[in-house]
Amino acid sequence: MPKSTLTFDKAACKGCLLCTAVCPPKILELDLTSVNAKGYNPIYCTDIAKCTACAICARICPDSVIKVEREAASGAMSNVERGATA
Ligand code: SF4
Ligand code: SF4
Repeated sequence: MPKSTLTFDKAACKGCLLCTAVCPPKILELDLTSVNAKGYNPIYCTDIAKCTACAICARICPDSVIKVEREAASGAMSNVERGATA
């Protein structure tokens, strides 16, 4: 499985849980230990090793919070997806 990297714009997350519902390996959860400036618990990844870089989470997020990158054979990271508006 290719190595994946997830980057979250936690300040923009509104905790709507759309991404947690669609992630196939169920590795996205709200961080109940922190609150962003909007007053929401932001999203985080519980186990990046299980991420397939499918980018379903990035596509469904209405606020372009999630950036998904996947490692190419060369070792370079390529952008897979960052939401609908970025
Ligand atoms: S890229 Fe796919 S597997 Fe990885 S966190 Fe998003 S929905 Fe889950
Ligand atoms: S990352 Fe996007 S889809 Fe997921 S909870 Fe935050 S705002 Fe909702």
